[in-house]
Amino acid sequence: MKDSFKILNQEIVSCRLCPRLVKYREGVEPKLIFADQTYWKKPIPGFGDEKGWLLIVGLAPSPHGGNRTGRIFTGDLSAKFLFQCLYDVGLANQPLSESVEDGLQLNGCYLTAAVKCVPPLHKPTPKEIRQCSQYFYREFDLLKNLKAILVLGQIAFNALKFDAAARGYPIRGIRFAHGARYDWFENKKLYASYHPSPQNTNTGKMTAQNFKSLLKEIQEKRE
Ligand code: SF4
Repeated sequence: MKDSFKILNQEIVSCRLCPRLVKYREGVEPKLIFADQTYWKKPIPGFGDEKGWLLIVGLAPSPHGGNRTGRIFTGDLSAKFLFQCLYDVGLANQPLSESVEDGLQLNGCYLTAAVKCVPPLHKPTPKEIRQCSQYFYREFDLLKNLKAILVLGQIAFNALKFDAAARGYPIRGIRFAHGARYDWFENKKLYASYHPSPQNTNTGKMTAQNFKSLLKEIQEKRE
């Protein structure tokens, strides 16, 4: 059967391949401010423009963001930073990403995570990353207009490298650094950035101005 985002996302949402992550995601206790909400507690598929040219890859959902709302980069401080920037450069129709019903749309851009379930302490094991890469491959193959990939954070970057190596693509010399750019396989460009987590954005390690400059450069080099 021909693969599609619909088929893939149904498989992702029902996946229970990693026992440690299944236990963790289902055991997340709601924060007091979200006590009236029912947490999603399942894997989080990608989200955005399925005909998009830019793929943005994070590491994994957060306990009270994606794991609560059911959408990647939704309802937490990382999402707040990321979507303000995506909106400012025209890749999103609004600066807010708060719930699956908030009307958010992405223009030319698809978002996903290397690992679809929230990991304890934001640290999936190598085995869990390997296990989840099957879904990432399929997302990658379904994005037919893809020209550029922006990876947020070193662990997601290494996961992407692992996926590429498993497919037989050369990865020698490709290393994570904020602002790094590479020619990637199949005529795509690869970019790296720090992850927009509060520990990076609140400390000034990563600024909106700097991140938007990178997004604009990616847009300009699209062809
Ligand atoms: S991390 Fe990926 S492979 Fe593991 S249970 Fe979640 S969706 Fe399945």
